[in-house]
Amino acid sequence: MSVKRALVVLAHQERTSFNYAMKEAAVDALQRKGWEVSVSDLYAMKFNPLVSRDDITGEPQDSENFKYGAESAKAWKEGRLSKDIVEEQKKLDAADLVIFQFPVQWFGPPAILKGWFDRVLTQGFAYSLSAMYDNGHFKNKKAVLSFTTGGLESMYGPTGINGDINVILWPIQQGTLHFCGFQVLEPQINYSIAHTPAEKRSLILEAWQARLDRIWEEQPINFVPNEDFDLSFAGGFVLKKEVVEKNADKKYGLTVGQHVHKPLPPDNQVKAGGTCL
Ligand code: FAD
Repeated sequence: MSVKRALVVLAHQERTSFNYAMKEAAVDALQRKGWEVSVSDLYAMKFNPLVSRDDITGEPQDSENFKYGAESAKAWKEGRLSKDIVEEQKKLDAADLVIFQFPVQWFGPPAILKGWFDRVLTQGFAYSLSAMYDNGHFKNKKAVLSFTTGGLESMYGPTGINGDINVILWPIQQGTLHFCGFQVLEPQINYSIAHTPAEKRSLILEAWQARLDRIWEEQPINFVPNEDFDLSFAGGFVLKKEVVEKNADKKYGLTVGQHVHKPLPPDNQVKAGGTCL
């Protein structure tokens, strides 16, 4: 079997943090299993999260009316993206598995990681209109979100004060990772980590390593397949009528996003198979 490669993207500023410990545990477990592992420690790299004209070298196509999407797509094609973006794209290109390790901040990834998505996932490199979701550029890669929260698990339940974690995960798991084609594995969630007793924190690190031993064998979370949509501008990229009709008697919607005006399927974004297709 050929050597598998992993990329760990860490977004925490402190080496004494639990997120850093999770990163270290991942690198150690994967290397012991024979994986080649590279790390993007975004704060240590002082990764620039700001989308700007400086991301493109050489003359822009239209400097009067600069459009980042079009300019960066053209620059990617012509090899004119800035060096820091190219380096991250090379690491991502080489990786079979990508782990994103971060503390939840304002119900999402820290700004530095959001900026990594904004700048590294360039149109053309990461997606195009003809290559998205199931058919996306990274369809042979797997990705997993590993994150910590301040809030308790109960706060992120369907009756919790923060609201259902499945809803919070949808934008990043569907809108970013699956959009680019990644097979999205179940997230590794460590709720309320600062209030977790020390002995339990050690067990969490061990359980993470045990999961990583066999992570390549895991099945991804279910999303609605592309073939179930009318993928045309005329059709509006919506679910085909026959798919809606076929699921009409089901109790739950198809996914968090394609809920078809029904209750959300429980655990849709946290468990493989957690959807009602
Ligand atoms: P740390 O506090 O660094 O670590 C937790 C404990 O683990 C510490 O006691 C540490 O010493 C210990 N530890 C470190 N290494 C090890 C090791 N090797 N073995 C065992 N123990 C170890 N939370 C929400 O729920 N929702 C939000 O929307 C949200 N928004 C936020 C916005 C901002 C701007 C900020 C700053 C925080 C926000 N938070 C939110 C809270 C945040 O998610 C938590 O503070 C964070 O997840 C805690 O992770 P950490 O790695 O920083 O923990």
